[in-house]
Amino acid sequence: MTTTTHLKTTRSEEIFAAAQKLMPGGVNSPVRAFKSVGGQPIVVDRVKDAYMWDVDGNQYIDYIGTWGPAICGHAHPYVIKAIQAAAEKGTSFGAPNYLENVLAEMVIDAVPSVEMVRFVNSGTEACMSVLRLMRAFTGREKIIKFEGCYHGHADMFLVKAGSGVATLGLPDSPGVPKSTTAATLTAPFNDLEAVKALFVENPGDIAGVILEPVVGNAGFIPPDAGFLEGLRELTQEYGALLVFDEVMTGFRIAYGGAQAKFGITPDLTTLGKVIGGGLPVGAYGGRRDIMQMVAPAGPMYQAGTLSGNPLAMTAGIKTLELLQRPGTYDQLERITKTLADGLVQVAQETGHAACGGSISAMFGFFFTAGPVHNYEDAKTCDLQKFGRFHRGMLEHGVYLAPSQFEAGFTSLAHTDEDVDRTLQAACEVMATL
Ligand SMILES: *Cc1c(COP(=O)(O)O)cnc(C)c1O
Repeated sequence: MTTTTHLKTTRSEEIFAAAQKLMPGGVNSPVRAFKSVGGQPIVVDRVKDAYMWDVDGNQYIDYIGTWGPAICGHAHPYVIKAIQAAAEKGTSFGAPNYLENVLAEMVIDAVPSVEMVRFVNSGTEACMSVLRLMRAFTGREKIIKFEGCYHGHADMFLVKAGSGVATLGLPDSPGVPKSTTAATLTAPFNDLEAVKALFVENPGDIAGVILEPVVGNAGFIPPDAGFLEGLRELTQEYGALLVFDEVMTGFRIAYGGAQAKFGITPDLTTLGKVIGGGLPVGAYGGRRDIMQMVAPAGPMYQAGTLSGNPLAMTAGIKTLELLQRPGTYDQLERITKTLADGLVQVAQETGHAACGGSISAMFGFFFTAGPVHNYEDAKTCDLQKFGRFHRGMLEHGVYLAPSQFEAGFTSLAHTDEDVDRTLQAACEVMATL
């Protein structure tokens, strides 16, 4: 790989200019447009292992991994071959298939809270369905979410949301009826007292608490010691459900997700990203008595034409099989820690206030002295500086999430050499900021 200092983006520019006339903002998901970091977004031609190539022929080390799914590296031959073989038998049956059992069993074996599971097609769908289930099971309407946490784009969750909403500095979205969000209460992450106060103010009305157990959509924010335990106790005390949104953390920060890593078992869990191995899959699952509410076992309606299709199930199964190999999470942990610690060190050595960290294959880095315990803290970071850093890294062949409010992702394909090269690039770029 050659280090480019003046990126050639002619073809990317042409394609993206045309895209802007065809699709809102030129994209099908907002953060891809690079609005918060400025500059020309890169139009991607292909991906392989830890790398990405754009339509102008530039190569990048990719730390987004299609926003999480590519934990084994892009286009892993073990996964791709299985998808090809599955496609020969048809892409969707709209009827039961055995592969659903296989992936369901793998998820149930891996994730402590999950006794039964329902597959859907995205993390958004998983979260909106789990919310309906929380309400159906408890007969209560209000829910508590945390500022800066993202649970997909369903109406009820677009209140102080993270990810693209935070990145673009959007207010709560127009088009969402007040009546829909009136039942969504919010608290700062890592603030048990605020959660307790909400329970006290709304006696008998709160169906449950939903959170990213490790936040990745307001940047990377781990839970303080005792926070997850405290939520488990509070929800039990008030007869409410605890829901971990592990769409990002599931099979990433440990094979069994954050709940396995921290030893806290929620009542329900949402999954996505990694379990689809790069194809559209989401899932929600949990205690058997709660999941039995879901149609057709019970009265809570939720359905999907393409849900559980054999192509997506295959990609998920093969990805999880790769992750089950010995040493996987040790390798992910080691590589990611070297990278995350290295970025903070390089920043501090070049005179920038910075903080960051990692858990297994998920990391984050802020241009602020920190520490960052919640979204308010995250917002103290220097966004202008990050924009220049992001562009500089791109020019040095490193593709980072185009926002301070997104976590970064590594994969089994990232090598020590990739990390060295990344830190070398960071050193050069930081010195110019
Ligand atoms: C990505 C994400 C979602 C939404 O998943 P989509 O597949 O993009 O709909 C929900 N929750 C969390 C924690 C996520 O990271």
